[in-house]
Amino acid sequence: QPNSPEARDIAYQMHPMVDQRRYEKTGGLVIERGEGVYVFDSSGKRYIEGLAGLWSVALGFGEKRLADVAYEQMQKLPYYHTFAYRTHGPAIDLAEKLVQISPEHLTRAHFTSSGSEANDLVVKMIWYRSNALGKPEKKKIIGRIKGYHGVTIAAGSVTGLPNNHRSFDLPLDRMIHTLTPDYWREAQEGESELDFSKRMAAALEEMILAEGPDTIAAMFGEPVMGAGGVIVPPEGYWAEIQAVLKKYDILLVADEVICGFGRTGKMFACETYDIRPDVMVLSKQISSSYMPLSAILISDDFYEPIADESHKIGVFGHGYTASGHPVATAVGLENVKIIEEKDLVGNAARLAPLFLSRLADLAKHPLAAASRGVGLLGALEIKPWETPNAAAAAVAEAMMEEGVICRNIGEALCFCPPLIITEEQVNAMFDGVATALDKVAAARAA
Ligand code: PLP
Repeated sequence: QPNSPEARDIAYQMHPMVDQRRYEKTGGLVIERGEGVYVFDSSGKRYIEGLAGLWSVALGFGEKRLADVAYEQMQKLPYYHTFAYRTHGPAIDLAEKLVQISPEHLTRAHFTSSGSEANDLVVKMIWYRSNALGKPEKKKIIGRIKGYHGVTIAAGSVTGLPNNHRSFDLPLDRMIHTLTPDYWREAQEGESELDFSKRMAAALEEMILAEGPDTIAAMFGEPVMGAGGVIVPPEGYWAEIQAVLKKYDILLVADEVICGFGRTGKMFACETYDIRPDVMVLSKQISSSYMPLSAILISDDFYEPIADESHKIGVFGHGYTASGHPVATAVGLENVKIIEEKDLVGNAARLAPLFLSRLADLAKHPLAAASRGVGLLGALEIKPWETPNAAAAAVAEAMMEEGVICRNIGEALCFCPPLIITEEQVNAMFDGVATALDKVAAARAA
């Protein structure tokens, strides 16, 4: 159909994260509308959105209160900026709310529009701060292999995934990467989780010593790795890592872009894993992705040298037209209020045992290898076939037929449903996965 949305999409758009030539042939699935945990394609077929869009639609689709707040704010003050000694209510209100609900030592918020922008800014702030402290040599940033922090030049460099580096001339040479805490894949024979975590920390320390502790400013980490394939930290991991960072005066940036706002069963994963970051990065569930919005939360200790420096040189020369956008921050505040009112953090904690045990049961399927997760974030590992990643891709495709969307990353099927999901819907989602596994197994046996 030359005028169909599918055909016009192929004709007029260049998409992110696809093989362009393949896309020109296959096109994409047009999603038309959403309702609760469901989305509907252009043929009217219904899917459970098992990844909440891109790990982000906490409130599900069609939350009218967010639409109403956006409409009201658009009429009252659709735009204003936060530059040059100007400010506005929605940004103030959301900053106050975030400071109130986050760990006590994080005392200030700054807004951007995406996770990448936020992480990019944090890198710049870290460099600015090192200059302010008279330590211009302390600039290197440690990321982790398989870590994901976005795709802008600096954030994409901290990211540790080859797809985001290859042919982009990344990473920048100030960015270095330490090991992934992937206990399931990387543990040695008989190694306990705690011993594995100690080995990860020892490798980090070795790298710091080899590079020179005085050259390293910060480490970035997702409390639970998301886009790397839902890699849950093994026992003791964050305690061991934080002890090393503290020893060498290296800042810790907790990238809670996926984990924040209840995903792990607590408001922030830093609470789940006892992490005390200098900077916390938030996005996605901050607005349920109804508006582009991200925030960084910083401690006084992080802020003070930056404030002194900008005083000395006259201005903190960074900001976006949309920093703290009034419609985005108004929607963000309403979104956080609804998360609280509906006790969606509690819902995640209450449904986690069911969610994780259904995943563990699925892991017993002949096609599956293992499962892992925390809160309402989990992965089912599929046994590899001859062609790498083909097995999980086949199961993910079969799941689409059963009306379940997930994300296949390597051999892992990743699940991160809207936080409003019910017990019944968790069961329906995993029933669909079970049927898909059976169908793929039968087709392969035939
Ligand atoms: N950080 C983490 C942990 C993420 O998962 C993502 C996106 O998936 C980002 C940063 C980048 O966010 P954005 O896509 O909004 O730039």
